[in-house]
Amino acid sequence: MIYDSHCHLNDPKLYPNRAEIIRRAMDNGVAYFLCVGWDVESSKLAISIAHEFPSVYAAVGLHPENLEGVDAYSLEEIKKMAKDHKVVSIGEIGLDYHWFKDEKDHIKQKEWFIKQIDLANELGLPVSIHARDATQDTYDILKEHPVLKKGNLHCYSGSKEMMLEFAKLGYYFGFDGPITYKNSIVPKECVKACPADRLLMETDSPYLSPIPYRGQDNEPAHVKEIAEQMALLRGEEIESLENRLLNNFKNLFHVEQ
Ligand SMILES: [Zn+2]
Repeated sequence: MIYDSHCHLNDPKLYPNRAEIIRRAMDNGVAYFLCVGWDVESSKLAISIAHEFPSVYAAVGLHPENLEGVDAYSLEEIKKMAKDHKVVSIGEIGLDYHWFKDEKDHIKQKEWFIKQIDLANELGLPVSIHARDATQDTYDILKEHPVLKKGNLHCYSGSKEMMLEFAKLGYYFGFDGPITYKNSIVPKECVKACPADRLLMETDSPYLSPIPYRGQDNEPAHVKEIAEQMALLRGEEIESLENRLLNNFKNLFHVEQ
């Protein structure tokens, strides 16, 4: 049994065909999906998909790239939604300095990251973190504002050294398509060095398709390629790796069943 700890079945590219896409994934052994929101509307849609399909869970939150126009009301909406029984995480939240270079934007992103950490702590939920070109600031915030139920750095793209620092704070790490790309050296090193009890598989569908699907829209069925690549990189039997990684997923997100 495998799972996808970060996918966007709520994305317009996947949503219309979600039933088929979920079926194809289940045929590949995918038992759980964490469908992640990026703003109020996509978070609502994530919950509605989670209500349609027993194996789908939802994360609700405001992504650092989607903060234009957010206000106290948006946070109130996220809070209301987060009380739904299928919501297992606040996310995706975090910092993106790749698309946003301006210091003013960074200040705003940090502010909303912290507000949503506070919300996760108020509700007793873990967080799903997006951190791009912002590893140090993400670390500093998590150190200063500990998340009680921890969380994962999805599509982890920092250094191995920083990964081990985040691990000391109790965080988990999700890896997806890039670990199958030939020129992607550091993510592969990170998969090899990741503490066994902190590793998670994900796709970030519809983005980041693994080899041999690169260039096409990604979908949760392809998390199989991620699990196989992880087993190869770590020199582990696929079955024991899958079992352990399923435990990691359950330990972090406390899914039922
Ligand atoms: Zn995502």
